[in-house]
Amino acid sequence: MFSEWEVVKKYFIYCKILFCSMEGTYKEKFPTSKRYRIVYHKEQCIGAFACVAAEPNTWEQNGAVADIIGGKEVTPDHETKDVYIKDLAEDELHNNIEAAQSCPVNCIHIFDFKEEKRVI
Ligand code: SF4
Repeated sequence: MFSEWEVVKKYFIYCKILFCSMEGTYKEKFPTSKRYRIVYHKEQCIGAFACVAAEPNTWEQNGAVADIIGGKEVTPDHETKDVYIKDLAEDELHNNIEAAQSCPVNCIHIFDFKEEKRVI
């Protein structure tokens, strides 16, 4: 019997940096005391700005795409381009789940360090 995480890892290669956060690589590289981490694939953004409408404290329009306010770029030593992370406290989670759910291209992912699972 596979765990949910094992199934996701085996069959859905949707975000290597999310996997790296789950497995420790990006957890060690970008240590945090916060519980949640957003992983944003900016190169996939089509500029619908549903994220900005859902959570303007975290997302902002920057020309034709969205930026994650206070996000850190994690791409320089990684093969994926334009990937940003931002760590969230408990009270920042709800609206960011809405932002991720409303994104038409699913380029916003959130990981829970405590439960060690993908939130979305
Ligand atoms: S909702 Fe998704 S596609 Fe639209 S601006 Fe935000 S990140 Fe980009």
